[in-house]
Amino acid sequence: MIDAHLHLDQYDLNKLEFHIDMWQSHGIEGVVAVATNLQSSYKTLEIKLKYPTFVRAAIGHHPEAPPSTSKDLAELLNLIKKEKNHLSGIGEIGLPTYQKGSLYEVYGQEPFCEQLEACLEIAKSVDLPVALHAVHNESERVLLLLKKHKIKQAHFHWLKASNKIVQDIISCGYYISVTPEVCYRERDQRLVKMIPIDQLLIETDGPWKHGDLFQHQDTTPLFLKDIVDSLSNILSISTVNINEILLANTKRLYK
Ligand SMILES: [Zn+2]
Repeated sequence: MIDAHLHLDQYDLNKLEFHIDMWQSHGIEGVVAVATNLQSSYKTLEIKLKYPTFVRAAIGHHPEAPPSTSKDLAELLNLIKKEKNHLSGIGEIGLPTYQKGSLYEVYGQEPFCEQLEACLEIAKSVDLPVALHAVHNESERVLLLLKKHKIKQAHFHWLKASNKIVQDIISCGYYISVTPEVCYRERDQRLVKMIPIDQLLIETDGPWKHGDLFQHQDTTPLFLKDIVDSLSNILSISTVNINEILLANTKRLYK
């Protein structure tokens, strides 16, 4: 199993070696570690170099935060060019949803679109997939930008979108991931049934905390086993087969 989206740089780095050993002993083959800003991108790259086989690194600037300064954005784009051989993706990038009101009030919408489009262009030029935060109404706007920039490889992480947009994302050949929410939330269970299995990925978005049966637990890639068990029930496919397919999907997208 590979966790297709988590924030490894937000875990206690002093205990990371212990955790990775433990995760590996429980069948976790690796993670796709995404970054949230320039500093987090450097940190994620550093972790990647320390654990090169376990970590697939993606760097970028998270949209639910003030936009990158033009100096930081230029530095990020340069870092991507320079380190492209150590990278498996560009992310986490996208457009704000949850903080949209306050962020657009202060900065306007333009810098967020500019930042995203710059990242899409560089992703295309270095031939890497994009790890997207694009949910609810913003999923449609981001999808339009992917089409505008002729992006071929994209991953909509923890997607929440209308059936129409989900279908459109699928027909573009993009990937969609589900989180531990699929174990207890009907919305995500319905979504899974719409996604062709070879475009499906699983993730925890750790260390983000989840609810229901995961309440009061620290989020780790060990939750992937519960996700696979749920997928097996929803799709009536054995866990062995699901694991094989998901692993192949993740490796196909994030090389
Ligand atoms: Zn995330």
